[in-house]
Amino acid sequence: MVVEKNAPLQPCNTFGIAARAQTLVRIHASSDVLAVLADPQLAPAPKFVLGGGSNIILTGDVKPVVLKMEIKGLRLVEETPKAWIVEAGAGEAWHDCVAWTLANGFPGLENLALIPGTVGASPVQNIGAYGVELQDRFESLDAIDLATGQSFTLDAAQCGFGYRDSVFKHGAPSDALDANGLPRGMGLQGRAVITHVRFHLPKPWKPVLGYVDLERRMADEGVQQPTAQQIFNWICEIRRAKLPEPAVVGNAGSFFKNPTVSPDQCADIIAREPRIVHYPMPDG
Ligand SMILES: Cc1cc2nc3c(=O)[nH]c(=O)nc-3n(C[C@H](O)[C@H](O)[C@H](O)COP(=O)(O)OP(=O)(O)OC[C@H]3O[C@@H](n4cnc5c(N)ncnc54)[C@H](O)[C@@H]3O)c2cc1C
Repeated sequence: MVVEKNAPLQPCNTFGIAARAQTLVRIHASSDVLAVLADPQLAPAPKFVLGGGSNIILTGDVKPVVLKMEIKGLRLVEETPKAWIVEAGAGEAWHDCVAWTLANGFPGLENLALIPGTVGASPVQNIGAYGVELQDRFESLDAIDLATGQSFTLDAAQCGFGYRDSVFKHGAPSDALDANGLPRGMGLQGRAVITHVRFHLPKPWKPVLGYVDLERRMADEGVQQPTAQQIFNWICEIRRAKLPEPAVVGNAGSFFKNPTVSPDQCADIIAREPRIVHYPMPDG
């Protein structure tokens, strides 16, 4: 466990906001989290889990103990006739993880190329892009409860994934209600440190196309059946053309979520704007 005092956070957030952490602990292994929880000074203090800092805005110096996630490791856990199961440490850069899976012959994450941040943060908002969400490729994750020190494993259902949503964005069940006003279940916001994530990459691989930008690239390049590597390359190029590189121009990506509307509302909008881009939700 490496503990730093008055640590600069400017290199740790994509806006490049100059702020400091009173105390920052670099988490290189699950045992580092347990060491923090066993430390008489660190244990009782509030904690803030920090990945790549690409989805936060710092408004000043950070008083809670910052747990900077730096757990590394990428490995094939299992190969079955139906899927490759790949595990990544929470501190791996997301894009590097996607690139590694492709380079090693485990396609399936290519549509999520170039999303900034870390593997450990990917389940928090169920990252998604170009027709694929994390939940489509998710097997399970390991986490540690900061309140009890208990290690636990969650599958997709237990993560409560929704559109840019999961149990990690909700507090205790009492204040975590779904659209119908029902408890969402176990809320883990600010409580769980995700240490490892496992992905389920289905066989045989099938491309996820259908996005206008991708279809345009296929037409431009005369490719009808792109490989996963081609999709990865195209998505990197499309994203680079759309959003500034955070290392060059500080930003936190898009601030907007697509609105979810009822089937009736959708039909009404289509009647007025027939070319509107829209996608069905699993629940209709
Ligand atoms: C240019 C740009 C483009 C983007 N494009 C997309 C996109 O296409 N799709 C998309 O979904 N998002 C996108 N994002 C948002 C961002 O990349 C994702 O939300 C990403 O998953 C954040 O990862 P991070 O490691 O930077 O998290 P951070 O910003 O460090 O943290 C975000 C939240 O997750 C929590 N957290 C982080 N790590 C852990 C952990 N190990 N355990 C528990 N909690 C944790 C933090 O406490 C915090 O609440 C974009 C951002 C930028 C800057």
